[in-house]
Amino acid sequence: TYVVTENCIACKYTDCVEVCPVDCFYEGENTLVIHPDECIDCGVCEPECPADAIRPDTEPDMEKWVEFNRKYSELW
Ligand code: SF4
Repeated sequence: TYVVTENCIACKYTDCVEVCPVDCFYEGENTLVIHPDECIDCGVCEPECPADAIRPDTEPDMEKWVEFNRKYSELW
């Protein structure tokens, strides 16, 4: 799965939302978030993010961001 990370804070771009084929972006408190169970891991959103905030969860130390994305996407 891909996750939204701290560079998203206060970012106003929604390019990622527009390209996601499964509409798995949700609004968090001050970031967008990706629902980790709905993301199909296509990677299309990553290069679209002007803030470079979207990372694959296979990178090191992503556990807290996976939890963050899950927490806020499940409020909807
Ligand atoms: Fe959507 Fe694909 Fe990005 Fe997952 S990797 S959030 S499915 S665009």
